[in-house]
Amino acid sequence: MVPGAFNYHRPDTVDGVIGLLGEWGDDARVIAGGHSLIPVMKQRLSDISHLIDLAGVDSLKGISVDGGTVTIGAMTTQHELITSDALASAAPIIREASLQIADPQVRYLGTIGGNVANGDPANDMPGLMQTLDATYHLAGPNGTRTVSARDFYEAAYFTAREDDEILTGVSFAATGGGYAYEKQKRKIGDYATAAAGVLLTMDGGSCASASVALTNLSDTPVYCADAVDILVGSAVDDAAVAAAVKAAVDASDPVADTRGPVDFKKYVAGVIVKKAIESARSRA
Ligand SMILES: Cc1cc2nc3c(=O)[nH]c(=O)nc-3n(C[C@H](O)[C@H](O)[C@H](O)COP(=O)(O)OP(=O)(O)OC[C@H]3O[C@@H](n4cnc5c(N)ncnc54)[C@H](O)[C@@H]3O)c2cc1C
Repeated sequence: MVPGAFNYHRPDTVDGVIGLLGEWGDDARVIAGGHSLIPVMKQRLSDISHLIDLAGVDSLKGISVDGGTVTIGAMTTQHELITSDALASAAPIIREASLQIADPQVRYLGTIGGNVANGDPANDMPGLMQTLDATYHLAGPNGTRTVSARDFYEAAYFTAREDDEILTGVSFAATGGGYAYEKQKRKIGDYATAAAGVLLTMDGGSCASASVALTNLSDTPVYCADAVDILVGSAVDDAAVAAAVKAAVDASDPVADTRGPVDFKKYVAGVIVKKAIESARSRA
C-alpha cells in the first residue's frame, strides 16, 4: 500500500508550523517520526493532503536538565532518550521504559512528541508521563499553554490538544528514589499487553512518596491514585503491595482484543504492577 498524494511542507520554526496548520486546517497534519502516521496513510485510513514535517524545527529537539527540572523537546527521538546520560541520571525510568519500546529501528525515528500526542492507549510514553506527573507544552495560534499529562487524555486518540496546536515538549521534576517500568508483551517489538510505571521514595522504612500508572489497560493511560494512597505511609510490605496491586487492577478497564480477554489482561496487570512496585522498592 502507498499513501495518497499529499503536499509536503518543511517549516523551520514553530510559528511556521502553526501558520501552515491555520492555512490548511483539517487537510493538514504534522509528522514527526512517522511510525504511527505513515501506516495510517498507507492504509488510506486518513485523508491528509498537507503533511507538515516537524524535522526542520530545531527548537523542538533536545533534552535539558536544569535546576531539577527536566525538559524534553517533542522531536527528541526515543534513541536520544536512551542514550542521554543526563536524562538517565535525572529520571532513569525514561531509559528503562524507552528500551522496551518496539525495536532500535523504530526508536531511531519515533519521537516522544509523536508518542504522547497521538493518544494511542498502547503507547508507553503517555503512561510513563502519568508516572512522572509531567507537564505538556502546547503552541497554537493563540500562543502557548501547558496541560498536565494527567489531564491530557480524554479517550483513545482524543486529547486536550486542539487541532491547530502542536506539542512542543514535556517537562517534569527530576526523580529520586526507586523506579521501575515493567511491561509484558507477546514478542519483541510488540505493544504492551500490560505495562506499569512506578516511582517510590522511602524515608526511615516508610514510603514518603509514590506514583503508579498503567499503559494499555484502558482507553487512556491510568494514574492509580488509590494505589498511591495505599503505598504512601506504608512500609511497602507484602500487605501494602497486595492492596496497592488490587487498587491498580481495579482502576484498569481493558478491552478484549488479540492480546487476550479482559480477565487475562487484568491478571497480567496485577503481575506487572506487583513486579514494578517490588522493583522500585528494591531500588529506593
Ligand atoms: C512496529 C512498531 C512497534 C511499535 N511499538 C511501540 C511500543 O511498544 N510502544 C510504544 O510506545 N510505541 C510503539 N510504537 C510507536 C513508536 O514508538 C512512535 O512513538 C509512534 O509511532 C509515534 O511517534 P512518531 O514520532 O513516529 O509520530 P508520528 O507517527 O509522526 O505521529 C503520530 C501522531 O502524532 C501527531 N504528532 C506527532 N508529533 C506531534 C507534535 N509534536 N505535536 C502534535 N502532534 C504530533 C501526528 O500528527 C500523528 O497524528 C511502535 C511503532 C511501530 C512502527
